[in-house]
Amino acid sequence: MIKRSFFGLQKPRLEYDIVSAAAPEPREISASETVQLFSNTVFDKKDQVALQPGDEVKTGQKLTILKESEDYVISPVTGTITSISPCTGDFGVQMTSIIINRKDKEEKDGRFNEISKTPSLQNTKDFLAGLPGVLPSALFSESDRKIDTIVINGMDTDLLVNTKQYIVKTSTSAIKKGIQILKEITGIENFVIAVPEALSLEASSTGAAVKTVSSIYPKALPHLVLKEILGKEIPAGSSFEELGVLLIGAEAVASLGTAYTTNEIPTKKIITVIDKHGFKKLISTILGTPLKDIFSALSISAEDSDRIIIGGPMTGSSVYTEDHPICNDTDAVIVQDRNVIPFISDNACINCGECVRICPAKVPANMLVRFLEVSQYEEAADSYDLFSCIECGLCSYVCTAKIPIFQYIRLAKYELARIHAAEAENV
Ligand code: SF4
Ligand code: SF4
Repeated sequence: MIKRSFFGLQKPRLEYDIVSAAAPEPREISASETVQLFSNTVFDKKDQVALQPGDEVKTGQKLTILKESEDYVISPVTGTITSISPCTGDFGVQMTSIIINRKDKEEKDGRFNEISKTPSLQNTKDFLAGLPGVLPSALFSESDRKIDTIVINGMDTDLLVNTKQYIVKTSTSAIKKGIQILKEITGIENFVIAVPEALSLEASSTGAAVKTVSSIYPKALPHLVLKEILGKEIPAGSSFEELGVLLIGAEAVASLGTAYTTNEIPTKKIITVIDKHGFKKLISTILGTPLKDIFSALSISAEDSDRIIIGGPMTGSSVYTEDHPICNDTDAVIVQDRNVIPFISDNACINCGECVRICPAKVPANMLVRFLEVSQYEEAADSYDLFSCIECGLCSYVCTAKIPIFQYIRLAKYELARIHAAEAENV
């Protein structure tokens, strides 16, 4: 039986939800006992590990798994580390999980405060790389020397989500300060903010040039934003930075402004939470807060076989546990009732052509998927435009045979990146 998508739209003309003029303040939700952080550093027995269970940590303290490593996470709470263990993320990515048991009495680490009076790229890299909303790593790399324009995305990239729009609506002074800081530390003068028409007025007080983005999905995806507002098309396989553009989400820019205004590292994330009935709430919570604390505060029950999605309905990823924490890139959490989860199958393609007709990047998804289903990733990239895909998910959404095309595409891109990185290491 083919089931309808839970948001119940049959026609593939999907519109973003625009934040309402009367959007209420986000509800504050605290982590009850523990927070969990993920570090990109992996370690084994022979490594010199700098952190141990039992270590006391302060709010805002840099936590580095390996001595001499530049990779770090910031503790969003004061407490005691109870566990440091390997864990596996999307597509089998290896990471390290750090669990911290909170203490009631908060103590703040003062190291960022000491250097925050002198904003610099190095100080930002050393303390603010994990800000809520995510600063792109390209900001800190050599390639930023070629960048002449920073585009701030003030539009949420997936359906139903209001997180970035809320930030634009309510945090224009923080965004303005963030832009000033970015100008100072990068020397880049050209700033553009992309927002829906309804937020033009607010966006105009940030000091950036305002460009409006269509409310039709997927016009707010990064590739289409760039095409629409700067007239630049990103060639398949190229990065934005190669065209001289850096794209940063509005929340990250606001967090940067807040960091250098308050002299403290922001540790709270705004998130759009959508329950099984489609009701939506904005919340504000500490990074690392487990989903179960949020569900408990909002009286959401996720039963066995319900699906929990991190991100929006078109491009989000499922997680299997309510222990999963809020990360700095978590803009939305959706709980889907098990009875309305879109059906997927291993049916054969029936060549209806729907995926080709809907694709904004003109990828021949019907041909592509034949190669991806049998893991022929190089062929898919060479012959069927894998890297032209801008990851909107529309092909999966319309597929008559319910083939999870978009999931195949993501896996293929990840596998090819892994293979190419391994080849580069062995040269
Ligand atoms: S996800 Fe599918 S529809 Fe969207 S750009 Fe990629 S191939 Fe095209
Ligand atoms: S929409 Fe699905 S069934 Fe139709 S051509 Fe594309 S892959 Fe095949």
